[in-house]
Amino acid sequence: MNNLNTDLQNLEAILSNVKQQGIDYLNNIQERSTASSTGTQMICDLSAEGFGTIGALAQFNKRFEPIIVASSGPRYWGFVTGGTTPAAIAGDWLSTIYDQNTQSAKGSGDISALVELETIQLLLSLFNLPKDFFGGFVTGATLSNFTCLAVARQWIGKQSGKDFAKDGINGSIKVLSATPHSSAVKSLAMLGMGSANVIPVNVTPGNREAIDIEDLKLKIETLNGAPFILISSAGTVNTVDFDDFEAIYQLKEKYNFWWHIDAAFGGFVACSPKYKHLVKGWENADSITVDCHKWLNVPYESAVFFVKEKHQLLQMETFQNANAAYLGNPLDNFSYLNFLPENSRRLKALPAWFTLTSYGRSGYEELIEKNVEMALLFADFITIDTNFELLAPVRLNTVCFTLSNESLVGSFLDQLNATGKVFMTPTFYNGKKGIRAAFVNWRTTAEDIAIATDEMKKVVDQVGIANPD
Ligand SMILES: *Cc1c(COP(=O)(O)O)cnc(C)c1O
Repeated sequence: MNNLNTDLQNLEAILSNVKQQGIDYLNNIQERSTASSTGTQMICDLSAEGFGTIGALAQFNKRFEPIIVASSGPRYWGFVTGGTTPAAIAGDWLSTIYDQNTQSAKGSGDISALVELETIQLLLSLFNLPKDFFGGFVTGATLSNFTCLAVARQWIGKQSGKDFAKDGINGSIKVLSATPHSSAVKSLAMLGMGSANVIPVNVTPGNREAIDIEDLKLKIETLNGAPFILISSAGTVNTVDFDDFEAIYQLKEKYNFWWHIDAAFGGFVACSPKYKHLVKGWENADSITVDCHKWLNVPYESAVFFVKEKHQLLQMETFQNANAAYLGNPLDNFSYLNFLPENSRRLKALPAWFTLTSYGRSGYEELIEKNVEMALLFADFITIDTNFELLAPVRLNTVCFTLSNESLVGSFLDQLNATGKVFMTPTFYNGKKGIRAAFVNWRTTAEDIAIATDEMKKVVDQVGIANPD
């Protein structure tokens, strides 16, 4: 362990080198490429003695660092990729340094869950959600959907006196949805409910992805009173559409179902007076998924689940780490490990705590509204330039568009992304090949829109799109 001892002596130098490297990366993120065309040869044999941290850093900087893309920069508009605020980075560093195994909130060797419980309260406050939700951190919206739907599964069992967590699923579980995110469908597969078992509900007519409430009623009637799970959306990925939560709440008064909302990024409208009407009524859901590594702009991997406190016993039945006697009675000693998929976990909440505490309500209101402004600015360009057309109206922070010559979408996007100036992802919407640009990074400015649209004009010339006009 020679290198380990040397590293201990060199701790200050190691951390200052890394700090300086971080500063250099972040200060130059605007210039860094958003795409990389070259890979690197992998080294698959472990060295006998190792190189020490300074040696490893040199190797990382030689082989990997130059090809790392600016996915946390202002012109990475692919998927729904958030950036990292300075406060979130500070919190993330400290999570690593303190290296807690975040479980409990009462002095049983670790109290770091206090930070997590407090952060959940801050998020509920940001979203103007009532305090009757219990919440916690998981790695992403996929795991949050999984967690919520796992409790929903347990709830379904209880409607006929069964304990699915203990005895396994008995019979099929009815799930209704109009435009579920792929990760919710994947969660159904992981939970044994079957990804192919979603009963599709029509979308509202008129270029929408939201649930058609009349069709939902019809589909519910065909279930003859059987309890079911409804997966609804606060922000679909293609067109950022929102289901009508007030109408769904009215149905909930009448029918017996578990109401889940995937609000991975769309939930953030709740902190903007301009857009919060989009989630009106969402507080009545049984469970809500929100991603933090998207619009909260904290580093990956961070998301939360909110499940109504009245379902806490179901949640514990689903996730309790039953055989670990040394952990005590899960009801007496609160520990996150009895309420979510992971057992050991890092202090995931700290980056979110730092950023929320640093920028407050108005900081996030501004961040959200500025990103929407940028989406609208970009949409103006798409609308005016006859080489492009919108595939859907811009409802929030995502622009879904195509080329007037749809057959060139693939080559256009490849060439555009290869410029390294901007990154977008392909999609398929309403029977057409399209492109998505999602605005979720706090750094994006009007200047970035100009840089990207200039590149788009150049690429249009290169691929020779015949202007139909
Ligand atoms: C991104 C996203 C997910 C999946 O989130 P991960 O963080 O990638 O696990 C789920 N639902 C919606 C609506 C999303 O946008």
